[in-house]
Amino acid sequence: MTDLSGYQRKGDLSAPFNPTKKIERAQAQAQKLHDHVQEIVAKAPPIPPDAREQVAALLRPYGNAPKPAQMRWRLRRYCGDVVQETVDEKYLDPDEAFKHSEQCPACGRKPSVIVDAEPIGLARGD
Ligand SMILES: [Zn+2]
Repeated sequence: MTDLSGYQRKGDLSAPFNPTKKIERAQAQAQKLHDHVQEIVAKAPPIPPDAREQVAALLRPYGNAPKPAQMRWRLRRYCGDVVQETVDEKYLDPDEAFKHSEQCPACGRKPSVIVDAEPIGLARGD
């Protein structure tokens, strides 16, 4: 059994969905940033296919090294969906762990900030 005591929880997944003003502001900020990025991307010249592969290789966080153990989290997103997602076990704070994960895998809404979160256990091994 994995020791989850070091992991931070956020909100209360057993309570009814009720985003706070802080969550409403976070969602509005995420939406504003998302819209701004989309405007920039729409104006940018197309990326040649070979350059695209080079950029993708640079962005692979672990290169060819084995993927680290993954912690599985139960998340409630701003859209109201409760989903399970995994991230490197080194992240103890769900906001830090999922700061680059803004799309709900259930409904596709993007952005959909995290309202509530709790760690469940390692996704493999354990
Ligand atoms: Zn959703």
